[in-house]
Amino acid sequence: MAKFADVQKTMQGFQMIEKKTQGEQAEEQMNKFIESGLNKIEKPPTGLGPAECSRCGDEIPIARRQAYGNGLCVYCAELNERR
Ligand SMILES: [Zn+2]
Repeated sequence: MAKFADVQKTMQGFQMIEKKTQGEQAEEQMNKFIESGLNKIEKPPTGLGPAECSRCGDEIPIARRQAYGNGLCVYCAELNERR
């Protein structure tokens, strides 16, 4: 049968493990946060259209890609609308 002192020691041991685990969890969350931040920088946000105009091959500004994402530069999009 376990003595009271032994039980106390075991409880203290559990508390120390718990504290260590919380620290590790915080570290893990921080790493995930940093990773997600890096992913955002490396990969363009979803919903972006192609970087180049599918008609004339011109580079499409990122603001336009975010707004339309139809793969056309301003010039070609205007031509399309006029037709
Ligand atoms: Zn174009």
